Amino acid sequence: MTDVSHISPRDKAEILAQALPYIRKFHGKTMVIKYGGNAMTDPALQADFAEDVVLLKLVGINPVVVHGGGPQIETALKRLGKKGEFIQGMRVTDAETMEVVEWVLGGEVQQDIVGLINQAGGKAVGLTGRDGGMIRAQKLKMLDNADPSKEHDVGQVGDIVSVDPSVVRALQDDAFIPVISPIGFGDNNESYNINADVVAARLAMVLKAEKLMMLTNISGVLNKAGELLPELTAQQIDGLFADGTLSGGMLPKIAGALDAAKSGVNAVHIIDGRVPHVLLLEILTDQAFGTMIRSQ
Ligand code: ADP
Ligand code: MG
Repeated sequence: MTDVSHISPRDKAEILAQALPYIRKFHGKTMVIKYGGNAMTDPALQADFAEDVVLLKLVGINPVVVHGGGPQIETALKRLGKKGEFIQGMRVTDAETMEVVEWVLGGEVQQDIVGLINQAGGKAVGLTGRDGGMIRAQKLKMLDNADPSKEHDVGQVGDIVSVDPSVVRALQDDAFIPVISPIGFGDNNESYNINADVVAARLAMVLKAEKLMMLTNISGVLNKAGELLPELTAQQIDGLFADGTLSGGMLPKIAGALDAAKSGVNAVHIIDGRVPHVLLLEILTDQAFGTMIRSQ
């Protein structure tokens, strides 16, 4: 932990006391956290994240973690001599890539996060969308953004059909912290690779979460000049899609964030996962990081 001995006892007490209204407000509420970007690959940030999640749980908030794993999948593909390909922010997933996604996300990455949270004093449980029949999916039909008469085949990328959150609820009620890998199953028990932002957004809606927080590897949503946009309305987002300001992984992220905001998730934030303890700062202080998405 960082040395804070230079802070006076009086200031320390003040900082702790100022979290009280937030703890009271959010006690018993569910917060869905998309864990991705740098916060997931830098060891110091990983430890901060795990501590934040445990602290939230211990003050009576219910964190639900959904993780990505782009860099880790990329490394595993490289070992097999494959290179990842993306269309409109989605990873093209052939059968071999799907196997890698299942090993890497549902195995290594998920269990690393579970281990870190447990080490910080929490009780994390790893799940994929198969567990408890949580995430039913079908093949994504992807139309070209510029020319909707054109369709892209992105392989086993999943489109969510339905989410059954009962396993998540059961774990929450029992003081466990669910850590979910974004893998769905289809009618014939086939696996689907689903963008983690899309899963986090949908879970936030189904769980009627108070907040959806998406940690990423950038300061938030940027305009064409590269400046941070602290707040975005649905109309402004339409404009950003139309003028090409958004690309790659930001496309599914904003689309998911906006869906969640429109479906009644009170606060939706795309936040800078490079900031140490960004979750605590965002939830338990009046500081804001990144971009808040508004439903209108
Ligand atoms: P993750 O899902 O782990 O957060 P992604 O790479 O999928 O990471 O999505 C974040 C990336 O989206 C950013 O690093 C950036 O390169 C890209 N991006 C595209 N357009 C924008 C934009 N307007 N503002 C911010 N990031 C953008
Ligand atoms: Mg992404």
